[in-house]
Amino acid sequence: MDNIVTVKGTHDVINDEAIAYQEIELAFRELADLYGYLEFKTPVLEYSKLFTRSVGESSDIVRKEMYEFLDKGGRSVSLRPEFTASIVRAAANAKLFNTQDLPIKAFYVGPAFRYERPQAGRYRQFYQLGLEALGERSPILDAEIISFGYKFLQLLGFKNLKLKINTLGDDESKSNYKKAIKEYFKPHLEEMCSDCKERYELNPLRILDCKVPSDIELVKNAPSMKNYLTSESKEYYSLILDMLNELQIPFEEDDSLVRGLDYYSDVVFEYHFYDEEGKSIGALGAGGHYDKLIGELSGINHDGVGLAFGLERLYSVLQSNNLLPDMTHVLDVMVMPISDNEVPFSYIITEYIRDLGYKCDISYSPKSLKSQFKKAERKNTRFALIVGEDELKTQTAILKNMETQVQEKVPLQDLADALDKHLINHHSHEGCECGCDSDDDCDCDCEHDHEHEHECCCHHHKEEE
Ligand code: AMP
Repeated sequence: MDNIVTVKGTHDVINDEAIAYQEIELAFRELADLYGYLEFKTPVLEYSKLFTRSVGESSDIVRKEMYEFLDKGGRSVSLRPEFTASIVRAAANAKLFNTQDLPIKAFYVGPAFRYERPQAGRYRQFYQLGLEALGERSPILDAEIISFGYKFLQLLGFKNLKLKINTLGDDESKSNYKKAIKEYFKPHLEEMCSDCKERYELNPLRILDCKVPSDIELVKNAPSMKNYLTSESKEYYSLILDMLNELQIPFEEDDSLVRGLDYYSDVVFEYHFYDEEGKSIGALGAGGHYDKLIGELSGINHDGVGLAFGLERLYSVLQSNNLLPDMTHVLDVMVMPISDNEVPFSYIITEYIRDLGYKCDISYSPKSLKSQFKKAERKNTRFALIVGEDELKTQTAILKNMETQVQEKVPLQDLADALDKHLINHHSHEGCECGCDSDDDCDCDCEHDHEHEHECCCHHHKEEE
């Protein structure tokens, strides 16, 4: 049979990878919530002009990488290559700039599409997690976004992070610098790579991003942006750096950091992780400030700042550096009907156990008990609940602890209590000097209600004494 495979540059996310993505996304959502960012869900499909107008006609993304096609009505639409333009469009369409307190703080999670050459850490469909703060010009807000990204990576367990940062300045700074760059590269243009020749005409700043070995020396000696900044831009940038210093977020200034999207102005940044051999798969995340984009899409001039992380890269680096959390999936109860006759009744019990809040599964077409136990072991099951003909008649079940192998017959009406007794750690005395680990054998004199989960009441009690 001819196997149908995934489209080049796309990939399935299943099993442990899917669990890890979920964990990473959850950490991102929780942090976004702490910082006061609300989720925006925008369509994957947008009119192409949204991106040509915002990401920029001269950017690699728009020139070469858009999944752009005509729909059945002959309209040019594109799969989003990034989210910022869509988030700004959504805020503008909903008139949030006129009706809501600014800044509008949005976060997003979802797939993006770029027709790039697939390679390590580079896909044609990939997932991004990102933030945008729209409608306010404040160096503190830029610092907030940068700090968020740094904390997020720390939270995931990354160490040896490198935060690279630069400023492109305002319009005047950018235009002065462009002139200087063009003058500098002009005499060398003939020897430079074909991409750089194009960039020279379209967006000369992007020459600084060139990784072609023969151009690198030239790029290194190019004039520095710093010497072309207006005093306002210099001041704005230094306030961001001051705040990062106050927050003890280490950064490294990098003059050649320009980013590939045309809408950036002022601060731009990237987060990198280098393994023990000093290798990096590219930026884990990146972002920057933009001062024209909101005006172009909403008609009201405002500044914005945002960042985006790539989920595939986060996962790949976490995995190859053994930083992923333990993802062993544990099943609380596996219900084991002895024969097909007991399956429907066992399924009702299964749903009941799930309603109690325990992870529970069942053998739908039961084979021997032996094979059911093997399956339960593979699923890291804590308790087996065996239901045979006798049990069905007497409305009981056999509850077996998979670890100790101890089993007991339980009337179904007492099942909830039995499961609670074994599976809820009523009185978690972790770290408690009284040495007990359960409600039952605790004689710590604690006045707290042992039915409630609490960290360690004995400590409080002892302190009071
Ligand atoms: P960008 O929108 O280009 O600033 O990218 C932000 C982040 O998205 C990068 O730092 C990567 O982690 C991720 N990313 C960008 N392009 C790709 C891609 N083709 N495949 C996988 N991840 C990507």
